[in-house]
Amino acid sequence: MTDYRFDTKCVQSGWKPKSGEPRVLPIIQSTTYKYDSSLEMGRLFDLEEDGYFYSRLANPTCDAVAQKIADLEGGVGAVLTSSGQAASFYSMFNICGAGDHIISSAAIYGGTFNLIGVTMKKLGIDCTFVDPGISEDELDSLFRPNTKLVFGETLSNPALSVLDIEKFARAAHSHGVPLIVDNTFPTPVNLRPFEWDADIVTHSTTKYMDGHAVALGGCVVDSGNFDWTANAGRFPGLTTPDDSYHGITYTEKFGKVAYTTKLVAQIQRDLGSVQSPMNAFLLNLGLETLPLRVRRHCENAQKVAEFLESSDSVTWVNYPGLPSCASYELAKKYLPHGSSGVVSFGVKGGREAATRFMDSLKLAAVVTHVADARTCVLHPASTTHRQLTDEQLIACGTSPDLIRLSVGIEDPEDIIEDIAQALNAVR
Ligand SMILES: *Cc1c(COP(=O)(O)O)cnc(C)c1O
Repeated sequence: MTDYRFDTKCVQSGWKPKSGEPRVLPIIQSTTYKYDSSLEMGRLFDLEEDGYFYSRLANPTCDAVAQKIADLEGGVGAVLTSSGQAASFYSMFNICGAGDHIISSAAIYGGTFNLIGVTMKKLGIDCTFVDPGISEDELDSLFRPNTKLVFGETLSNPALSVLDIEKFARAAHSHGVPLIVDNTFPTPVNLRPFEWDADIVTHSTTKYMDGHAVALGGCVVDSGNFDWTANAGRFPGLTTPDDSYHGITYTEKFGKVAYTTKLVAQIQRDLGSVQSPMNAFLLNLGLETLPLRVRRHCENAQKVAEFLESSDSVTWVNYPGLPSCASYELAKKYLPHGSSGVVSFGVKGGREAATRFMDSLKLAAVVTHVADARTCVLHPASTTHRQLTDEQLIACGTSPDLIRLSVGIEDPEDIIEDIAQALNAVR
């Protein structure tokens, strides 16, 4: 296949119609697939042949979109899931279980922090959370014989800290385990983690990839680069026979796609958080315009961040495109073309002023969401983190005055005018 440039892949990858087939990716709204003989179907069940038999395992619409995302990230395979949460869980649970240990950056999405720190802990998987700024020596010292993976977020939600992917990948690889990164915020438009030695990428496709706030979804992408057999002792699930598939050994039979094959054949089969074909269709529409939208989100957010920094009603601004940002240097390395549309900042007057500022906005809507075409805003202290005291807020990396603004693709002048009038109303 011709190796097209990135923007072309966003439009053309995935669905490849044969002569006379629909030009646009069809929604295969069918749970089942018909065969002429049970022998034929049996071969599919044994993973002897590729094909469809039940949409919990595979669906042509979902597969085409997964293939597109694999192309965009430069991976060998990808699996769509029902949400970003399912993608994060599957990406880790595919290679760890009770009695195992993982290392994760602490600067991650709250839902993932809870998934790892509470739910996976209940399953017997222990985690050491680390500050992403940790030194390489200290990081090295945290690995145990039962450590199975390292996890991080390339650009964290909501702290906007940029992960030093190379540092985390080096540490992981020197201990024979893969680095898994959630690349939701930058999207492959701004950052392709496999180019920096990450092994597996996850996405909440609910955010910029869909981009219109219409379809929940997730995705796990495998680079195909991690050598499971060289570290066979740590990953028996991949390197020894799977009794639930007639003794197939994934690494022997599937080579570079061992990880994704196991994720579908075992984890999706047993846990079932699949994406619906309808959502995959909507996601595909989003992907077609992803580069156009992401560039506009970033341009707009840069302007908004600069405006906020110049306002005397604003006490602080956090945006990786500002030289004042703690992640500025890492952003220059990993995100030279922009980070995302998300900006966080504080207004003078703390929690109470933040609430009044939000209520005065006219264009920006108050919603629990980020990363869609419409500018939206959230004040964690009065919503998602409402039950916490000011001290508790600071301890978990937010603050009473923190406002998270997800800058949309409207005209930047309108967004800035709206913010300016709301800041005036708070004075
Ligand atoms: C939203 C989000 C998730 C969770 O995704 P859902 O699709 O809401 O389940 C995971 N990681 C990041 C970085 C997110 O922003």
